[in-house]
Amino acid sequence: MSNGKRDSGTPSGSPSMDAGAGDAGSAVDAGRGASRAGTVVKRTLQLTFDDGPEPVKSALNPILKEVEARGVIAAFFVLGEEVKTSRSAIVTIRDAGHVVGNHSWDHMEKGTSTYSDDQIYLEFEDTHAEVKKAGVTMDYWRAPRGEQIQRIQQILRSPKPPQKQLYSNGHCDWQADSKDAIGSSTAEAMLKSIERDFKDPKIPPLRLKGTRVWRLLFHVKDSTAKALTNVLNELQAQGGTFVDFSQDS
Ligand SMILES: [Zn+2]
Repeated sequence: MSNGKRDSGTPSGSPSMDAGAGDAGSAVDAGRGASRAGTVVKRTLQLTFDDGPEPVKSALNPILKEVEARGVIAAFFVLGEEVKTSRSAIVTIRDAGHVVGNHSWDHMEKGTSTYSDDQIYLEFEDTHAEVKKAGVTMDYWRAPRGEQIQRIQQILRSPKPPQKQLYSNGHCDWQADSKDAIGSSTAEAMLKSIERDFKDPKIPPLRLKGTRVWRLLFHVKDSTAKALTNVLNELQAQGGTFVDFSQDS
């Protein structure tokens, strides 16, 4: 189950994404300093949902419906243990046209640093194999809680033989965390957290094909499903535009 799974704050040590130091231009349309409550600030936004796919009926389906209403492709970073008990959910996500990514087998709740390289490899390999059983392939992955990204990347890219390379790159971080993983967040609380990250100079937007992009982090859970319409409507009202999930820079 997803309860208790946590992602938080700023992904650490992202090796490839980047953005922009010294990228202080265009403050008119995207400067985080320009954002105030009630102020329209144009921002390009991507949607990502972690720790699913369960529970399908109560959370996943309403979330898929809401994303479909926005007409965009989102990314779902899934846990192998949940895919195992809910294989049809992964097919539902894929059939809806969304991207499926690897988020480890069980979220490595004891903390990534307590896991050996082999254990980390298996966390991702087992999930990859489980998702493949459903006929779905994954090109991307996301580190639980954004921990030890560079270490995991090295393990997945250059594993010890006979382990095979799982992903040459493909790590996807986030730039604004709704903090919906903790408790039952309201739309207001999620918006507050996202807005805080928009303004945080330590979390620069991605630069994808010349556009600044903020990737939003949500989770597949009931409270998020209930609040999502209001959250996305408000972000749009504040000048946000939702676009398809993409990693192409
Ligand atoms: Zn997670």
